[in-house]
Amino acid sequence: MARFEYLEAHTVRQALSMYRRHAPNVRYVAGSTDFLIRSRMGNWNPEYVVNIQHIPALQRTSFSRRNGLRLGALTTVQTLQDHESVQTHYPALAAAAASFAGVQVRNLATVGGNICNASPAGDTLPALLAFNAQCLSTGPEQGEQRSTALDEFFTGPGRTVLEPGELLTEIRLPRPEPNTGSLYIKHSPRGAMDIATVGVASAVTLAADRRTCKDVRIGLGAVAPTPIRAYAAEGILRGNEITPESLAACAEEARNTASPIDDVRGSAVYRKEIVGVLTLRTLERAVEMARDGTMAFETQRRLAVQAAF
Ligand SMILES: Cc1cc2nc3c(=O)[nH]c(=O)nc-3n(C[C@H](O)[C@H](O)[C@H](O)COP(=O)(O)OP(=O)(O)OC[C@H]3O[C@@H](n4cnc5c(N)ncnc54)[C@H](O)[C@@H]3O)c2cc1C
Repeated sequence: MARFEYLEAHTVRQALSMYRRHAPNVRYVAGSTDFLIRSRMGNWNPEYVVNIQHIPALQRTSFSRRNGLRLGALTTVQTLQDHESVQTHYPALAAAAASFAGVQVRNLATVGGNICNASPAGDTLPALLAFNAQCLSTGPEQGEQRSTALDEFFTGPGRTVLEPGELLTEIRLPRPEPNTGSLYIKHSPRGAMDIATVGVASAVTLAADRRTCKDVRIGLGAVAPTPIRAYAAEGILRGNEITPESLAACAEEARNTASPIDDVRGSAVYRKEIVGVLTLRTLERAVEMARDGTMAFETQRRLAVQAAF
């Protein structure tokens, strides 16, 4: 691991000014769970490391029925798993957090780090896409805040729209709609401590008749260069009656949307098949939840990780 100068910021302003002073070879770190691996492998060799973990403004998490969920970028994955409002109103996100690594990593890893690392297989990302997340960030020059839909945030594997030195500060999820259910399922060769071979999150909102799909959003992970929304599949279900046939057609379209690669975790053909299976499974469960109220979190946690063997 190459040597670097370590700096600690206690406000957003301080972090941005540290970046400006030492640019360009500076890297922010939050939980450092990606940073340690990448720097030990020699992939990341910054001259300066700015630790943002002690910035209180980035640690706040709040929920209101009017404004929805606001997650400071430093919200840990363990907090996402345990947060009552996340479990109740955004269950796919709590399930994604429960499927994530082991407890030690979950306590360090942050949602902001998961987003900025921009891995196609990042576990929180399909669920955040399914909830229409918005990312607030602040650039180092003007200190101006901008908001980017998560859907437009990723530009390639490991790449985002963030400019050099720009800090992700907050993630906003719109308020939950009534009659909504959601679930994330991660498929991986092992049941624990592995990244996703495929991850699918579906959120379904039913109309007042409880038979028509008012809205649906499907996020797919590990099956394209970035996490993606399955828009064409959503279009098949939105506004139409929910039947076994319409759910199956939607899942089939999600399967067609995926453009995975072959790697050690699974072939492209296999991954596409799994997208179809998991989309159908998450949709069916989400519809059940939307009709019957929330599913017990323990059940969701059990469903969230589906090992191949
Ligand atoms: C053993 C192990 C198991 C893992 N298992 C999983 C898993 O199951 N699922 C999964 O998705 N990931 C997994 N990961 C990857 C990692 O834990 C996650 O990507 C995590 O969310 C990263 O968060 P962090 O705070 O540790 O990021 P860091 O390592 O601190 O930073 C990651 C990157 O994001 C940038 N960054 C961080 N925060 C900000 C910010 N606010 N603004 C701008 N840039 C920022 C950093 O500069 C860096 O480039 C695992 C990692 C390990 C070591």
